[in-house]
Amino acid sequence: MNSNFMEVVFDAKSENESFARACVAAFCLQLNPTLDEIADIKTAVSESVTNAVVHAYPSHRGQVRVRCEIKGQQVKIVVSDDGIGIANIAMARTPLYTTSKTGDRSGMGFTVMEGFMDKVEVESSERHGTKITLYKEIARSCVLVGE
Ligand code: ATP
Ligand code: MG
Repeated sequence: MNSNFMEVVFDAKSENESFARACVAAFCLQLNPTLDEIADIKTAVSESVTNAVVHAYPSHRGQVRVRCEIKGQQVKIVVSDDGIGIANIAMARTPLYTTSKTGDRSGMGFTVMEGFMDKVEVESSERHGTKITLYKEIARSCVLVGE
């Protein structure tokens, strides 16, 4: 079975969000995804990296780690931080729930991730950090013999 792995670590800064999603998208290209599949992955990676940048480190600098594994046609992406963690994961995953007081967050990040990926797992421990695992199966592309 085809398998491959990559990992990147970067500072939890908003400038690195586009870097992270471009990295994952470039790595996934080996599976010949459709434009829609790549757009879905980029959106979900953006939401999870943005969460780490915005919520994980309110009072100190930190880093975000993105691991990406391919097994067959399945992509598994793990976005993790060592920040403050999530007190109530079920509540955090509820649509429109946000702890942000600034008014510029809509509380839809986890809902978006769930909509665009096959499965989303959230592990978190207060003061130790958060790990988001995103799964997506990329459809096998059809090769037309003789054309
Ligand atoms: P939006 O994503 O729509 O801008 P949001 O980030 O508040 O708003 P979600 O992405 O759904 O909404 O996250 C819900 C809540 O979960 C956040 O408000 C925050 O309290 C918590 N959260 C999410 N990711 C992390 C993280 N990496 N570290 C700490 N808390 C987090
Ligand atoms: Mg969010």
